[in-house]
Amino acid sequence: MLGAVIGDIVGSRFEWNNHRNTQFDLFTPENFFTDDTVMTFAIAQALMQAQDLIQDHASYDKALSQLTVKSMQQLGRMYPNRGYGGQFGRWLISPDPRPYGSWGNGAAMRISPIGWVAEKETDVKSWATIVTRVSHDHEEAIKAAGAVARAIWLARHNFTKHEIGRSMENDYTLDFCLDDIRPTYTFDVSCQGSVPQALVAFLESDSFEDAIRLAVSIGGDSDTIAAITGSIAEAYYGIPEDIRQQALNYLDRPLRQIYRAWEQFLINSALSGDQDLGNKP
Ligand SMILES: [Mg+2]
Repeated sequence: MLGAVIGDIVGSRFEWNNHRNTQFDLFTPENFFTDDTVMTFAIAQALMQAQDLIQDHASYDKALSQLTVKSMQQLGRMYPNRGYGGQFGRWLISPDPRPYGSWGNGAAMRISPIGWVAEKETDVKSWATIVTRVSHDHEEAIKAAGAVARAIWLARHNFTKHEIGRSMENDYTLDFCLDDIRPTYTFDVSCQGSVPQALVAFLESDSFEDAIRLAVSIGGDSDTIAAITGSIAEAYYGIPEDIRQQALNYLDRPLRQIYRAWEQFLINSALSGDQDLGNKP
């Protein structure tokens, strides 16, 4: 999930000032974390809290849904004015938050923690749906979240880029290259208008850093596209240590604490096999 955070931070200064090539400084004083980072942390936090409550599949699913809403509202209110969409901003402060038919790419930029926690591929899809539909219950949002989480899961399980691309083509037509769309691609916050582009940025890349640079280079909703691309690139390539350290400097203490807890959570889960509900009654 730090790959999403890095994409968000690097892309932040280009969302309203697109940069249509791969030559730029990754980190400058103008960079900052935005809604993509905050909501990614919210999903990670909900997953960590839900793990403590596992009894069986049904109660886990219900707990995950409730904790996702609680966690997104808590962090969303703690970090207001981070670029949330209008309707989502109202959802964050609503006393009775309901899904509102959204197909916004917020569904895809926040989903990466799911790809790291699920051990079975079937859990990837069902958990991605659970955390997405609390706000983004349009079929395009559910599809996008499931695809990005699955790409991460496949990358973690050593599938090749070719195999990941084939899997993504079950959901999207990816018969274009970035060079073709770069001159004319415009700002598009829909899942269907930004997730395929983010996927192709990953598929064309040859390293983590290259993936982030390619994602920014097409313009559009740069922080979110780079967050989605970065989340998959992290699982596939890993993150160079210097980039990881520089990105962490942009986070405040509470977010860094969530990140440290998340790292430990993944280590503990891998050791105990706890994340595999297949072992549970
Ligand atoms: Mg953003």
